[in-house]
Amino acid sequence: MCVLCFAYLVDGDPNPLSLGQGYQKGLIVEAQTRNADISSGSYSGRLSDFDPVTIEQSLTAPESDTKEFRVFVSKWGESQEKGTTGGLVSYSFATQNYNGQLRDFDSFITDVSFQKEIVEALSVWEDEADIRFFEVSDSSHVDIRFGWANIDGSRSILGETTFPSTGPLNQVIVAFDRDEDWFVGGDAPVNLIDFSSTAIHEIGHAIGIDHSETNQSIMRASYSREIFDLQRDDINAVTDIYGQNEIIRIDVHRFYRPETGSHFFTSNLDEKVNVEKSNAFDVEGVGFSAVSTEDDFISGAVPVYRFFNPDLGSHLFTAFDTEKNHLIDNTNFIFEGIGFRAFSSDTASTVPVYRFFNQESGGHFFTASEVEKDAIINFPQLVFEGEAFYAFI
Ligand SMILES: [Zn+2]
Repeated sequence: MCVLCFAYLVDGDPNPLSLGQGYQKGLIVEAQTRNADISSGSYSGRLSDFDPVTIEQSLTAPESDTKEFRVFVSKWGESQEKGTTGGLVSYSFATQNYNGQLRDFDSFITDVSFQKEIVEALSVWEDEADIRFFEVSDSSHVDIRFGWANIDGSRSILGETTFPSTGPLNQVIVAFDRDEDWFVGGDAPVNLIDFSSTAIHEIGHAIGIDHSETNQSIMRASYSREIFDLQRDDINAVTDIYGQNEIIRIDVHRFYRPETGSHFFTSNLDEKVNVEKSNAFDVEGVGFSAVSTEDDFISGAVPVYRFFNPDLGSHLFTAFDTEKNHLIDNTNFIFEGIGFRAFSSDTASTVPVYRFFNQESGGHFFTASEVEKDAIINFPQLVFEGEAFYAFI
């Protein structure tokens, strides 16, 4: 069964999987053998940590290195055609093993510092290509699930990504080797293994990228102690599969009006200039960044409606249609249309924008800062209204 799956993977792939170096091919065969007991068939991508001598040699790629990325047949998104959107892809930190999953975890990633690096690793790919990741509670149906596995002790294999060898990408398992000397929070020193770059690499497999033939890439088969971020070759790979991320971020500026105790937010540059000229407002900088009103093709981005309260001289934003309809009937507010676009669910590169109601001023306050939210959440005059939408900082 799996031999057939493997043959299909090679023959069906217009990209030069089958033309790869003997070494690369061997790695795939090895992975296939390992998963031969899985009836549905799977491909396992591995990041191996070779001995330092080999790494030194492989780091110096020749100047005429024209080798490049390779991608799998399968991708995320409604269409399997290359260059089309990956759409919204769910991910979870596994909390248990489910019957039939392609690979079992041995333990679960509960440490937030590791979780945070995985979210950032997802956002690295999200920033470049037309694919968006959002976190969900763990279940067997989640698109990409992350966990620990006791793979082979310290060194050698650092992580394994397993997915069905035929059909669209589906229920991918990303397992990191529990026994590595992992380093989180920046670039790892030479004696430790960088978790974030390993996560970026494994997620690369999870979204359909094979090992690159060039050493100047994070998708190279062996771990590099010098490459911690996406390289040009990796960006070429992910945009080949999903197209470019065309989200143009616009800044939403924040002002404070001491006279009324209310805040004013705007993404309109003319308005920003006019408010700055008036002496009524204190300039507080960029509150958060959002998506332009014109970009109505971004999957997951919804309109955030803007209302003006003339008494306060402040704006109210809402992404909820029911609230919008309610406010349109409220004579205290003037409906101003779509202020900007943001996301209705959290994605890897967005953060929640929290909304507060100020009972003293009658206005609303928005913040994308967790620190600020925590600092003001117990202010007696403020009513915490939760996550209004998700934007960028
Ligand atoms: Zn790999």
